Amino acid sequence: MIQVILLKQQDHTKLMAQQRKELLNLLMHATHCRTTSSDPCSNPKCLQMKRLFGHARKCSIRSSGGCQQCQKVWYILKLHAEICRQTDCCVPRCKDLKNYLELQAGKPSGK
Ligand SMILES: [Zn+2]
Ligand SMILES: [Zn+2]
Ligand SMILES: [Zn+2]
Repeated sequence: MIQVILLKQQDHTKLMAQQRKELLNLLMHATHCRTTSSDPCSNPKCLQMKRLFGHARKCSIRSSGGCQQCQKVWYILKLHAEICRQTDCCVPRCKDLKNYLELQAGKPSGK
């Protein structure tokens, strides 16, 4: 609880960083979480995250077509891939995204 109070006194950037950290923690949790509908997870946000990823798997619009839910999934995955240093990471699409980010970084400025 003390942390929550401290957070309120911090600036916006730090709050965003904290939110990002929570998102990433949640992503890692949901990736490893093996609960089912008959044995649901105690973390309600875990269910939300799983639903989001379940959507992304069967969505026909996709983020390139402007689907906001899919864009959110990619945003979270990208956040993770940027800091992930595991070569055998079990987060979906992590390897693909790391390759993609490397390509982007290696490109000369412009196009
Ligand atoms: Zn869970
Ligand atoms: Zn979608
Ligand atoms: Zn990863």
